[in-house]
Amino acid sequence: MEGKTTNGLREQQVRRKRVNKLKMSILTGAGIWVLILSVLVFALLVKLILLENKLDKLEDAIVSFEKFVEEQKEYNDDLQKAKDTDTIESDESEKNLTKEDVPEGNTHAKETQKSETRKVYLTFDDGPSENTSKILDILKERNIKATFFVVGIDDEQSRALYQRIVAEGHTLGMHSFSHKYDLIYKSKEAFAEDMSHLQSYLEEVTGVAPKVMRFPGGSSNQVSNVDMQELIQYVNEQGVTYFDWNVASGDATNHPYTKEELVQNVMDDVVRYETSVVLMHDASDKATTVEALVPMIDQLRELGAEILPIDETTKPIQHIQADGTE
Ligand SMILES: [Zn+2]
Repeated sequence: MEGKTTNGLREQQVRRKRVNKLKMSILTGAGIWVLILSVLVFALLVKLILLENKLDKLEDAIVSFEKFVEEQKEYNDDLQKAKDTDTIESDESEKNLTKEDVPEGNTHAKETQKSETRKVYLTFDDGPSENTSKILDILKERNIKATFFVVGIDDEQSRALYQRIVAEGHTLGMHSFSHKYDLIYKSKEAFAEDMSHLQSYLEEVTGVAPKVMRFPGGSSNQVSNVDMQELIQYVNEQGVTYFDWNVASGDATNHPYTKEELVQNVMDDVVRYETSVVLMHDASDKATTVEALVPMIDQLRELGAEILPIDETTKPIQHIQADGTE
């Protein structure tokens, strides 16, 4: 009986020890886990702080990179502007190589782009023809006035067109009666005769004596036998102002430009000037010019340009100027 009791006690003790051991190992295990988790949490916190620091640095880097890009863009724009100004004359010379109009040498009209309203003067040489009538229709529909440097044609249709040009508020300018280089540029007298012939003819037909003109081939033409200074002097003495151009559509070049290209040629140059005098032609073979007119007007208006007819207030665009004249 006593032995049984002793056995029972021992068993109890052994069990208690086991339970204690189990408790201890559970506690130890839990402690280890808590420790591991604490270390992990601590490590994660450290990592988080490091990442936050990195993020701050990255943000700073992005800001300074954006600033750099901005500065670079401004620098490139300035560079492009400078380049445009340098190449503008050669660009124009290329575009102005026409079968009738030779390239200008130096241009007194070089201007840089300003924020003021751009003035654009659309000019048409070599008319009138059936294309003049189509152009007048377009201009009327869009309420735009332009300038026509006409030649002398003595027929009913042409007379009606000179009259229509004046009646619809456009500027009627002279281009020469015959437009024959060998005749008008043979001598000063021949030139004077041609011009006064055209002026009196137009006055007789329209009641208005034109006060503006454009030399065939421009004042910088290389075909005149007479010194152009002499002819310019003569024109000025007559109280007539001559206009060359600083923007050429290219519609008289040997290159068959599409209407889109004609518009592009004009827009490329118009953005560079405060005042643009645009050279176009309304002879009978200039159908593409007529087609280009509507999109050209649309784009000029989109640009905010003011489209005007040449008048006494218009700043003359002249390739060469006579010595001692104004
Ligand atoms: Zn011409």
